[in-house]
Amino acid sequence: MKHGTIVCGAGIVGMATALGLARNGVKDVMLLGPATKLPAIDRNTFHPRVYAISAASEAFLSTIGVWSLMNAERITRVEAMEIKGDAFGALYLRAWQAAQTSMTWIVESGEIERVLQQALKVYGVSWSSDTLESFANGHGRTKGGQEIEADLWVAADGAHSTLRGLVGLKYDQTDYDAVGVVGHLTAEFSHQATAFQWFRPEGVLGVLPMPDTDDGHQVSMVWSLKTAYAQTLLAMSPERQGTELTESLAKATRGRLGQLTLRGSLQGFPLAVASSPMIGDKVALVGDAAHRVHPLAGQGLNLGLGDAQALVRSVSARESFLPVGDPTVLRRYRRARAQDVWEMRVVTDGLKRLFDQTLPPVPWLRNAGMSLVDRVPLIKRLMIEAASR
Ligand SMILES: Cc1cc2nc3c(=O)[nH]c(=O)nc-3n(C[C@H](O)[C@H](O)[C@H](O)COP(=O)(O)OP(=O)(O)OC[C@H]3O[C@@H](n4cnc5c(N)ncnc54)[C@H](O)[C@@H]3O)c2cc1C
Repeated sequence: MKHGTIVCGAGIVGMATALGLARNGVKDVMLLGPATKLPAIDRNTFHPRVYAISAASEAFLSTIGVWSLMNAERITRVEAMEIKGDAFGALYLRAWQAAQTSMTWIVESGEIERVLQQALKVYGVSWSSDTLESFANGHGRTKGGQEIEADLWVAADGAHSTLRGLVGLKYDQTDYDAVGVVGHLTAEFSHQATAFQWFRPEGVLGVLPMPDTDDGHQVSMVWSLKTAYAQTLLAMSPERQGTELTESLAKATRGRLGQLTLRGSLQGFPLAVASSPMIGDKVALVGDAAHRVHPLAGQGLNLGLGDAQALVRSVSARESFLPVGDPTVLRRYRRARAQDVWEMRVVTDGLKRLFDQTLPPVPWLRNAGMSLVDRVPLIKRLMIEAASR
């Protein structure tokens, strides 16, 4: 069957792309991929994965009509960031220092997925929950035996993209020999709408604010740990995991949030930096299919939503005589994304490498640099504005 555009992959980026295209008048869009099954939740249970959503992503999700559908009680506004070096360095960024009310929002992945799935249904976007198995010259075949073709194919099928592989686009990937270990914690003290980050010898630790529940104050942890230690931790029994984590977090956070206790279970995600050419013949790549960055800046999904927005713009604003997958349209999309994707990769990779260095005087210099920046209001304002973009 022939379609105008097929978006392959129904993760957050794929769903946002399909919805954005359809809502901007692009005809005959089909979403291909299984919908994520969302577990039942209540006011005391939260999805295991949370994202720091930037103002730009919030604006895009608003324009496609889903931001206001999310349950406001499950979203946490981040008003400040505290970043600590691996010695004396410290940096405190507060939204009011740049005349803003918030820097970013912490949202559960399941909540974004829920509203996107709902909006796609309400908007009547065609959706096949099959998976792509083979592809050549604009023609695809699915696991369920469907033969499909389209003028434009969008690869939104994640880091291990089948479509990208079948098209033969290169994916330059460097593994960090680290695993992002994530889990929710009960904190003894309130987070006061602050996101925390500690650059530690064992890896970068991020602690994000979450809504309080009947069990007390809640935060979410993302700790990039060396693979060997992460695997040992993930293989422990839940009881040992809890004790081990409470002890190591006490050391890492120096009691900033009081005692931290694990809620539920831990999950691990292998970390890598990767990039691919963002376009091929009648093919555009979005999200993790196109690039991966270190989660220390919490920007992977934001980059993907930026891709979705840029692709929607390039396709919907094309001249009426151009087909959706025309090389001119795709080149405009690639140009629109080049700088943001490059900058994010260089900054996150550079920061990670800077804090991996143990040879003097690098540790002293990086901590001194952080404390110096903390005393210069102009640089701080620029950093707050950049963090809120
Ligand atoms: C520990 C950690 C913490 C992070 N924290 C943040 C954060 O705070 N903020 C942030 O912005 N980002 C964060 N990220 C990054 C973020 O998780 C990813 O960038 C984002 O989830 C990528 O979304 P995606 O839709 O591109 O890919 P995915 O979520 O991987 O979705 C791909 C979809 O494609 C489908 N699929 C796969 N193969 C096929 C096929 N053959 N046919 C059809 N469908 C297929 C899959 O089923 C899936 O639904 C973090 C990452 C890690 C590892």
